[in-house]
Amino acid sequence: MLQISEPGQSKKTRPVIGIDLGTTNSLVAISSDGKTVRYFTDEQGRVTIPSVVHYGEVVSVGYDVPKVRGIDTVRSVKRLMGRAADDADVLAYLTRTGMAVDTESEGIVRLLLGGKWRTPVEVSADILRYLKTRAEAGLGEPVFDAVITVPAYFNDAARQATKDAARLAGLNVLRLVNEPTAAALAYGLDKQAEGTFMIYDLGGGTFDVSILKLTDGVFQVLATGGDAVLGGDDIDAAIAEALGEEDLPARIQAARVLKEKLTTADVAEVYPFTLTRAQLEQAAMPYIRRTLLIAEEVLEDSGISADELSGIVLVGGSTRMPLVRRKVAEAFGREPLVDIDPDKVVAHGAALQAAALGGQGRADMLLLDVTPLSLGLETMGGLVEKIIPRNTPIPITRAQEFTTFKDGQTGMDIHVLQGERETVETCRSLARFRLSGIPPLVAGQARVMVMFSVDADGILTVRALEQTTGTEQSVQVKPSYGLDEAEMIEMLKSSITNARADVTERMVREARLELERALEAAQAAFNADKTLLSLDDQQRLLADMATAKQALTLSVPDEIKQAMETLEDAFRTFAELRVQEALKKAVVGKKIQDVANG
Ligand code: ADP
Ligand code: MG
Repeated sequence: MLQISEPGQSKKTRPVIGIDLGTTNSLVAISSDGKTVRYFTDEQGRVTIPSVVHYGEVVSVGYDVPKVRGIDTVRSVKRLMGRAADDADVLAYLTRTGMAVDTESEGIVRLLLGGKWRTPVEVSADILRYLKTRAEAGLGEPVFDAVITVPAYFNDAARQATKDAARLAGLNVLRLVNEPTAAALAYGLDKQAEGTFMIYDLGGGTFDVSILKLTDGVFQVLATGGDAVLGGDDIDAAIAEALGEEDLPARIQAARVLKEKLTTADVAEVYPFTLTRAQLEQAAMPYIRRTLLIAEEVLEDSGISADELSGIVLVGGSTRMPLVRRKVAEAFGREPLVDIDPDKVVAHGAALQAAALGGQGRADMLLLDVTPLSLGLETMGGLVEKIIPRNTPIPITRAQEFTTFKDGQTGMDIHVLQGERETVETCRSLARFRLSGIPPLVAGQARVMVMFSVDADGILTVRALEQTTGTEQSVQVKPSYGLDEAEMIEMLKSSITNARADVTERMVREARLELERALEAAQAAFNADKTLLSLDDQQRLLADMATAKQALTLSVPDEIKQAMETLEDAFRTFAELRVQEALKKAVVGKKIQDVANG
C-alpha cells in the first residue's frame, strides 16, 4: 500500500490508541507524533479509570459505578482472563470476592452479574468499550485500532482472551505489548536511554519484572518473571486484617486510603481507623520481600549482575510507596528511576508503540519479546521435550523431527505443554491433537516434523507434518474462548488436572506468608515491650517464636495455620498487656477534653 503525502504535511492516517488494561486501573492514550503522549481524561481531568464494571439498568464503568457496590459490581476481572473455573487463582479470587460462579459451565469462568452469566472476556470488553468511547470523545472521530498491554507473564490463553475482549469492544488489536516492555519504550524513546534495565512493576493485582536491553531503539527482553497474584490488593488485605474486627469490605477500603495517604504522611486517619507508616511497612514487608526475591531470580536468569544494570524503572501505583523505593534501592544498590509517572508509564509506552505501528512513530523501532515459559511436547514415558526454551525471543519458529515407535503405526498424538519441569504431570497442558494418515512403515522410518511458531503477540501455533506423504495437521493453541468450543473445553479439562496440587501449593504459600507476618509482628511487639514481662515469660515467648519459625518449612497448610494459632494464643496475654499499657500512656498524655472527645 502506498501512502501519498506531501513533505512537511501531516498525512491523514487512522488514529491508533494505546491502552493499559490494568487489573486495578486502566488508561487510554495516543501519540500523534511518536514523541509526545496525550492521555484521555474524563470531565474531571482524571487519567486513570478504575477497572470496575457495574451491571445495573445500564452498564457503568470506573468512576460511573454506583458508590454502593453490590453483587452486580465486578473488579480485578483481569485476574480471571484465560483461566479455567477451578484454576487455583480463580478459586482464590472467588473466595476473596464472594462472587457467584457458574459451576455448570465446564471449566469456563462465568460470573453472575446483572442477572446474567458473563465471562471475564465480556467484562473486559465493557472496560475497553468505555476506553474507546473516551478516546473517540477526545479525538472527535471514531477509533478502530489499538495497542493493548498485558502482563509479561500472561500465557497464551490470557493473551487470546484479551484479543477477544477487544474484538467484542469493536477494537482491532495491532499488537499486544508486555507491560514492562511498554514501560521501557516510554523511557527508551523519550529519554534516549541505552543499556540494560530492570523494569519493576508492582500494581494492584500483579507483579512483573523484566530485564530489557535497549540499544538504538531496539528493545530486547533478556528475561521476564513475576507473580500474577501479588500486588497492592494483598497489602490492603494485610492492613485490613490488622484494623480489627469490623466489616471487612469497609476495612479493605479504609486500608487502601490509609496506605495511599502514608506515601507522604507518617500517620493517616480514616475514621475510625489510624495507621502509621511503620505499621504499613510491617504489613507490606513480606510482599515486598517476595517481589525482591523474584526480581533477583529474574536478574540471575538474564545473566546480568546488579551493577551492570543501567537503571531500574519503577512502574505501577504500588511503587509510590517509599518502602518499595527504599528496598529496591537497598537490594540492587542504586536509586530507581521515577522520571515518568509510574501510573502512566505503561500507557505512555503503549501510545508510542501504537504510533509506530500506525505509521507515525519511528519506523526503525523493533520490538523483541521473549517466551515467558518453555514450550514442548510429550514424548515416551510421560516426559516433556522442550522445543522452545523459556526466554527465547519472539516471533520464533522451531521445528523438531519425531518418528514412529511401532511398525505400521499410522497416527501420532501430539500433546503440547508449557512449563519448566520434566514430566507431563508437572507442566501445563496447552493442547492435544492427532496426526493421522501416516503411511504404515517400519518403526522409526516415518519422519514427522513438528513445528512450533510463536507470533509477536506471544500466541502459539503448532503444526505437525509427515514428510514422506505431506500429511499435515495444525492447531492454534487457544485454551479458552477460542473459535472451537469443543476443543477449548477439552483443553480446559486437561489443564484442570494439575490445578488441585496448585491449590495446595498456593494455600501453603499463603499460610507461610501469614505466619511470617504474624512472626514479624510478634517479634516487633516483643522488642518494643518485653519489659512488661517477667524474664520467665520472655523466655517462653522466645521459645514459642522459635517453634513457629520452624513451622515455616512445613508443607501442609493446616499445620502451618495451626502453628500460627498456637503463636497467637501464646501472645494473647502479652497483647492485652500492651493494649492496657498503651491506653494508660494515651490517657496520661492527653488533656481531659481530648479524652472525652475520643
Ligand atoms: P494495575 O496495574 O494492577 O492496574 P496500578 O498500577 O494502577 O495497578 O496500581 C494500583 C495500585 O497502586 C493499588 O493497589 C493502589 O492502592 C496502589 N497505589 C496507588 N497510589 C498509591 C500510593 N500513593 N501509595 C501506595 N499505593 C498506591
Ligand atoms: Mg499496571
